[in-house]
Amino acid sequence: MGAPRTRELDCALCVVGAGIAGLNALWSAKPYLGGSDHVVVVDRRPVTGGMWNDAYDYVRLHQPHPMFTVGDLAWTGGRHRSHLATRAEVTDHLTRCAREVFDGLSLTRLLGTEYLSHDEVPTAGGASAVVHLRDAEGGRVRVRAKTLIKAFGFDVRRATPLPLASAAVRSVPPHDAALFDDDAPVFVIGSGKTAMDTVLELLRRRASREVRMIAGSGTVFLDRAKLCPPFPRSLLGGSTGFRIALDISRRFDGTNGREASDHLRDRYGLSLLPGARHNALGIASRAELDAVREGLREVTLGHLAEVRDEASGPIMQLLDGRARAVPEGSYLVNCTGYLDPQVAYEPFRSPGGAVLSVTPRSALHFLTTHGGFLLPHLHYRGELERLPLYELDTTLLRRRDKTAWASALYVHGLYNMAHILDALPASVLGTMGVNLDNWFPVARRLWDLAELKRRGRDHAARAKGVLDRLRAHHDGVRCGPLPR
Ligand SMILES: Cc1cc2nc3c(=O)[nH]c(=O)nc-3n(C[C@H](O)[C@H](O)[C@H](O)COP(=O)(O)OP(=O)(O)OC[C@H]3O[C@@H](n4cnc5c(N)ncnc54)[C@H](O)[C@@H]3O)c2cc1C
Repeated sequence: MGAPRTRELDCALCVVGAGIAGLNALWSAKPYLGGSDHVVVVDRRPVTGGMWNDAYDYVRLHQPHPMFTVGDLAWTGGRHRSHLATRAEVTDHLTRCAREVFDGLSLTRLLGTEYLSHDEVPTAGGASAVVHLRDAEGGRVRVRAKTLIKAFGFDVRRATPLPLASAAVRSVPPHDAALFDDDAPVFVIGSGKTAMDTVLELLRRRASREVRMIAGSGTVFLDRAKLCPPFPRSLLGGSTGFRIALDISRRFDGTNGREASDHLRDRYGLSLLPGARHNALGIASRAELDAVREGLREVTLGHLAEVRDEASGPIMQLLDGRARAVPEGSYLVNCTGYLDPQVAYEPFRSPGGAVLSVTPRSALHFLTTHGGFLLPHLHYRGELERLPLYELDTTLLRRRDKTAWASALYVHGLYNMAHILDALPASVLGTMGVNLDNWFPVARRLWDLAELKRRGRDHAARAKGVLDRLRAHHDGVRCGPLPR
């Protein structure tokens, strides 16, 4: 028997990752492709839609659903614009978006196919990419692509149980069905969005369920009433993301993470506990947090280290040395975050320009939805090479300094967007449906735009100063122009 044959494909564009970021990337690239240009879409999952296919059933969007889309594709279903879509609604919408984006393309879909590696090779016209894939049957596929867009996102996988020594407690992920069918006490580990969703779902199923939370350093959420105030308060009240970024760029100097993060919390945030300090940029409402607070038996600030079986029963140990008894048979639900992905560094534009990467390690914008939308437009218009855009390694920064993280993301977003808004026409930016500021009436957005047009250079210069100081302060964290 000879070696298995390698299937060969040629295309103008290969997009790896068919979640919302990859679909936005394809949406943006589509107008630049010619009629005869072939496209290859790859994902290791057997369907489009990314991580939402594997998320726990009761997850809900934390922003209003119209702002979670591909391009400017509208949602169907006629729900009020403030509706927070369910997992099923999100996957349905993304499936419909994929159909619309694929429509009219000469397309090969390689779903259930794993990206292994790629090489950038010089060509007469510049560079192209050779992408190495493995299909569901283990066969090899080689794709030669003029442009490769990698949209792996945070590489979110299905949550797994925390490894615990105790055999007397049950360590489960949030999607574990038994957790909800049982009456045993629950310890929710974490205090971010997944933890909130899990507490609310447990209480919705049985209001008297004994639920406790081990809340880490306590999560700060952005207040939905400020980011998306209902009409007519949205005419003058609340704050657009742009205004928050401006405010933070005046408070954060690149070195005072704690002070800037406290300001972000006090001015725009909400938390379960007054001492909460970790801003993960999730969005929540006061009502949600009140319901969680009222339903919980206990919230403990601290990080879980282990649960061991001792003669007296299972004992939970926290990293700071505290210990407490845990009733036998309790569930411990792993609601710890996904914001520390094990993703290797790769620049958002490769040295030869043939490979674009939507990645938290070299972010153009901290939201992959925004990066997915913007990168292809900038690439095909030659702006990625021209503009003095900054990359930010959001993953490494978060590992080094959680307090500076959220403020840095805002300032970095402000800096890059100030340049991008100058370079991309309104007709393009108007189709960026994932922009949360679309929530506000047109007059508010035009007001922001006028401010950017008038003083964009000053704002960008101040933001650049902050980012340059951040880089000097956090040696080794990439925050600046791409390496040439
Ligand atoms: C529980 C949870 C709730 C969230 N809620 C919200 C929310 O309410 N609002 C919000 O804006 N964001 C939310 N997020 C963040 C969310 O991840 C993003 O908003 C968005 O879904 C990310 O899209 P993406 O396309 O970047 O990544 P993904 O949806 O993860 O898509 C990336 C795709 O790349 C594929 N891929 C990766 N590596 C390979 C490989 N080697 N070969 C082939 N394919 C590969 C994956 O299979 C995947 O389909 C949430 C995240 C989690 C975990």
